[in-house]
Amino acid sequence: MSLDPDNSLLNSILTTRLGKPFQPQCKACQDLGIVFESNLNPGQGGRDAGTYELCGCQERLTRCDGQAPWMYSDRSGRTMRACPSRPARVKLERLRHLYKRSDIPRRYQGSFFSSIRPDQVHTDLMLAVEQSIELIAHMDHPDSVKGLYLYGPTGCGKTLLSCAILNEILRVFVLPVKYAKISRDILGRLQSTFNPNSDIYGAGKKIEAELGSVPALVIDDLGVQRETEWANQVLYDLIDTRYENDLLTVFTSNEPMESWRGIAGGRVLSRLREMCREFPIQMPDYREQIHADIQSRNLGPWGPA
Ligand SMILES: [Zn+2]
Repeated sequence: MSLDPDNSLLNSILTTRLGKPFQPQCKACQDLGIVFESNLNPGQGGRDAGTYELCGCQERLTRCDGQAPWMYSDRSGRTMRACPSRPARVKLERLRHLYKRSDIPRRYQGSFFSSIRPDQVHTDLMLAVEQSIELIAHMDHPDSVKGLYLYGPTGCGKTLLSCAILNEILRVFVLPVKYAKISRDILGRLQSTFNPNSDIYGAGKKIEAELGSVPALVIDDLGVQRETEWANQVLYDLIDTRYENDLLTVFTSNEPMESWRGIAGGRVLSRLREMCREFPIQMPDYREQIHADIQSRNLGPWGPA
């Protein structure tokens, strides 16, 4: 069961983008030609959360043998023509490649707006989804806001939402996206580039260039690492580069943006303010809530009744 079984949130992105109601011929894929098929037990035993597949609407159009370069010979048998499903198949190949390189944590690999379950839904999260739809739909408009700063306690759904944003961008635009936890994937990796024994020794500039240029980036868990001058400088440079390049960036943090006041001479705060819309997701931890619900049922110990 999901919040959005009929793809209406995906449709909202396409409608917002178009500026008028988008009425797709295929409801299953919203005419993207591609669907995400979830595995039943994501994350179990090394299995992926799911895979991108060709939508049935494209299967029905197919006249080739389903192999690259997706051509078929016409009735005369002399002329090769591109299969009507070819554009969707080319897109699918690229999408699978980008999906593999996105570094979205396994737990959130199959997360879309439609994956937010009703038990996770609360007002702040739904308002943040609405903001996210605007953000995605306008991500290639030069004058639009390109940043979202989501903050709230652990378990409020901000990482889920930020990964859903990446997945929606992937399937709608087929553009490179990246997930990075600030301490592990950004600062930790950059630190390793100073270590001659590391396999990424000397690759600091390359890593920074990639983070600074990927069309959509999630920087998760901002705020726990700001004790050193070096970390603050790295962060500032990255935010500044993305701001200058006018690229979409989602930040998640446990703390409001204001907590950056006084850090690094206020430079991080002022850049964040310039590029982001700030959005609180305040709610009791839903995992705690589920735990409390179970306890309140007073089930007693496991075992036969
Ligand atoms: Zn379809």
